[in-house]
Amino acid sequence: MPATSLDQVVSLCKRRGFIFPGSDIYGGLANTWDYGPLGVELKNRVKQNWWTTFVHNRPDMVGLDSGILMNPRVWEASGHVGSFADPLVDCKSCKERYRGDKLLEEKLGVEAAAVLTLDQVQPMLAAEKINCPKCGNNDWSEAKHFNLMFKTQQGVVEGEGDDIYMRPETAQGIFVNFKNVLTTSRMRLPFGIGQIGKAFRNEITPGNFTFRTREFEQMEIEYFVEPDDKQEAFDLWKKAVWSWYEGLGVDTSRMRFRDHDKDELSHYSSQTVDIEYQFPWGWGELFGLADRGDYDLSQHEKFSSQELKYTDPDDATRKFVPHVIEPSFGCDRSVLTYLIEAYTEEELENGDVRTVMKFDKRLSPIDIAILPLSKKEHLVAKAKEIHQLLLDQTNLVTDFDVTGSIGKRYRRQDEIGTPLCITVDFGTIGEDAEQGDPDTVTIRDRDTLEQKRVKISDLRAEIAEYWKN
Ligand SMILES: [Zn+2]
Repeated sequence: MPATSLDQVVSLCKRRGFIFPGSDIYGGLANTWDYGPLGVELKNRVKQNWWTTFVHNRPDMVGLDSGILMNPRVWEASGHVGSFADPLVDCKSCKERYRGDKLLEEKLGVEAAAVLTLDQVQPMLAAEKINCPKCGNNDWSEAKHFNLMFKTQQGVVEGEGDDIYMRPETAQGIFVNFKNVLTTSRMRLPFGIGQIGKAFRNEITPGNFTFRTREFEQMEIEYFVEPDDKQEAFDLWKKAVWSWYEGLGVDTSRMRFRDHDKDELSHYSSQTVDIEYQFPWGWGELFGLADRGDYDLSQHEKFSSQELKYTDPDDATRKFVPHVIEPSFGCDRSVLTYLIEAYTEEELENGDVRTVMKFDKRLSPIDIAILPLSKKEHLVAKAKEIHQLLLDQTNLVTDFDVTGSIGKRYRRQDEIGTPLCITVDFGTIGEDAEQGDPDTVTIRDRDTLEQKRVKISDLRAEIAEYWKN
């Protein structure tokens, strides 16, 4: 069973050092979160696995790391300056601000709300008697469009800098580099460019822990295809992404595809499907796959006056703007999903309940913990020797823990999801034959709780075998 409430995960994340409230010592900053020592390892492993799967292991993919700050013309071309906005209304009684479309959607349904124009929002809220969720009054301001992009200034002179934006998606960095990548990498259609990076949206209603935040990380791919081949590419990506989540341990009974209705589609897209995950509060988007057509590259051609066409390598007279299939992953949401899926409470034989994070072993923040049975100096020295051996001979991420009873230390490693613990005891140093033979240690498996006595000289092979399966 995964976590049944978000609180279980939030509390474990704070207690064990996965995720902390942002700016914590200053009382926080609403809806910001910082990844702690274990959280950053988990997140890095999610990103690394994604990069290996979708960039390194595919001959049709290359990577990119473009800037967060871009020429403001990019956002005019992409349509973000004009239309990336929500219709906001203020409650005149309590001053709370809401998305008018969301309030109407709850009452009227998505389709009916979608066809309303901006000046119909306020009269409709009054007519439908939709009251302020906070104070209960019905005293709405006119709806105003509010752009979701964070604006800042570039330049050192106060008031004279150019207005620029923090990117609201990583995708445009890929489109504006299309020509550079094409000429330097000599890729042929179909091919894709993958990128992992931060994006910023001034969301009105962030929430549910790291699910919706104003600063977030995306893992995006823009996949360029011949117009005729795009349905095939769309279907292949749909399968590949589902398998990626499944392969890293997400139970598919809590995942589903959801096709966007016509009136939900972005202005550039003719087909979009989400993968949704059943979070403790309900279904939420984990991933989106969109057919963006030739919209973005055509727009950038127009606004930059640069040619962004592809020349058919078999027919130099045939030039065209490729179509684009976009698999877009929420990185923070993926991490949150793996946290929720891993969370397990188990009753042990003696009646105790243990909390264990059953991460896929490729995602666990720590691979192996080395635990000397006691703080006795010569025992700790032996354990350190074994620790160093592992550091020298493997690429594993290790933890060395001497504090507290062995039982408490096992609990801690269970709660942070460490797959294997190595215990060094008095048998290891030849002082207690009942604990084990000299130069052997105990390996404990997180999931089965099995303990196995292994020669130190066989340790490396034993560990390699474990990660092979
Ligand atoms: Zn109010």
